[in-house]
Amino acid sequence: MRDLLAALREDPLNAVITVPDVDEEPKDGPLAGMPIAVKDNILTAGIRTTAASKILENYIPPYDATVVRKLKEAGAVIVAKSNLDEFAMGSTGENSAFGPTKNPHAPELVPGGSSSGSAALVGSGTVPVALGSDTGGSIRLPAAFCNVWGLKPTYGRVSRFGLIAFASSLDVIGPISSDVVNLARVMEVISGYDPNDATSLDLPPFSYDEAERFASKEKFRVGVVREHLDGVAPPIRERFLAFVERLRERGNEVVDLHLESGEFALAAYYVIATAEASSNLARYDGVRYGIRIPGRDLLDTYVRTRSLFGREVRRRIMVGTFVLSHGYYEAYYLKALKARRLVRDEIDGWFKRVDVVITPTNPVLPPPIGAGFSPVEYYRLDTLTVPFSLAGVPALNMPLGDFVGVQIVAPFGEDERSVGFGLYASRAL
Ligand code: GLN
Repeated sequence: MRDLLAALREDPLNAVITVPDVDEEPKDGPLAGMPIAVKDNILTAGIRTTAASKILENYIPPYDATVVRKLKEAGAVIVAKSNLDEFAMGSTGENSAFGPTKNPHAPELVPGGSSSGSAALVGSGTVPVALGSDTGGSIRLPAAFCNVWGLKPTYGRVSRFGLIAFASSLDVIGPISSDVVNLARVMEVISGYDPNDATSLDLPPFSYDEAERFASKEKFRVGVVREHLDGVAPPIRERFLAFVERLRERGNEVVDLHLESGEFALAAYYVIATAEASSNLARYDGVRYGIRIPGRDLLDTYVRTRSLFGREVRRRIMVGTFVLSHGYYEAYYLKALKARRLVRDEIDGWFKRVDVVITPTNPVLPPPIGAGFSPVEYYRLDTLTVPFSLAGVPALNMPLGDFVGVQIVAPFGEDERSVGFGLYASRAL
C-alpha cells in the first residue's frame, strides 16, 4: 500500500487529482483491501471532488455517492480521485482544468476520455480497478485507448446518486479493470436498486455466476453492425475482423446487422447531452454551489463565477441553451428525442436474432496530446459508442491490444451477457 500511495503521489501520467488519506486498517468483505481509484466526478465524503473544474476546485462533499459507500462496505480502499475531462465533457482527457493525462503505453498520446485518469491508472498497472462514468463513451473509449476492460452498464443498473450530473438521461457509473473477473466482482458490489436515485432500476444486483453461466454456452449468435465498420481506421478494422474470424472458427454464428438510424445518432446525442448539461450546470451560479467570485451586482457575479468554466463546458452550455430555446426546441431537441427513439428501437430489435452484438469501440487510434482538432472532430471519436448510450443498453470494452477495443453489447438490463461473452472470448480466443 505504501508503494502504491507513493506512485499515486508521484503521478507521472497526471492521472490523479487528489490522493486521500488512506486508512490502512485490515478490511473484510468481498473486495477486502482492493485499492480502487474513483473518477473525480463521483462524490467522496470528506475528500475533495472537483469534476476537474475550477468552479469546484475546493469542494468537499458532505456525503458519499452510493457506489462509494458500497465499495467501502465491501472492504475496498479508495486510493485516488482520478483526472477527467471537466464535468466529463470530452473524449481525450485534455479538457481538464488540472491538465491532460498521458497514455500509459505512449505518453505523447491521449489516454481517451472523459475517464482519462481512471483508465490510465488501470492501464499502467497502478490499480487493478477504477470507477468511471459514461455518458456517450467515457468509460469505453479510454478503456480501448489504454488496453483495458471497461463496462458501461445498463442505464439505471448502477446508482447515479452522488455522481456530478452531466446529462442525466445518459449518465452511468461503471468499472474499468485490467481483468474481466475483477470487473464483474466490482459490478456485483456497486449495482442494484437505490431509492436515492429516481431512475434506478428495480433489478437484482449484477450476478457473476450468471455471467459465468452465459460464458459456458455452447455457441453464440454474434451480431456485427456493418455501418460500424465504415470509416474505421484500417488497423482497427483489421484487428476487429480478425477477432470476428476467430469467433467463426470456434463455431459461433456471425450475423450481419444494420443500424439505419446510426447516421443520426451522434447529432442526436450532442443535442440531448448539451441540452441536459445546460440545465444541470445552471446550479453553479456562485450562490448555491461551488466558488463565488463576487462582482458589482448579481449579473456581474454570475458572469465572473461562471467564467471559471473551461471552453468546452461553456460551448456545451451555449449549444444546450440554444437547442432548448423557444423556436428551436422543436427543430432540434424534439427531433433529437425522435432520433433517439429510432436508434433505441432498432438496437432492441437486433436481440431477436442474436445473443450479443460486437463493434469496434474506437474509430481511430489515440491522437497525440494537443492535436488541436476542431470540436466536431473530437465529437466524432464517440461515433461508435453513443448509439448504445442513447439506447441505454450495456456495452463492455474488451481490449484487443495496440489501442484497439471491441464493444460487446447486450440487451437492456442484461449486463451479465456482455460480461459473460467477455469471459468466453478472453478464454477461448
Ligand atoms: N465524449 C463524449 C462527450 O464529450 C462522452 C463523454 C462522456 O461519456 N461523459 O460528451
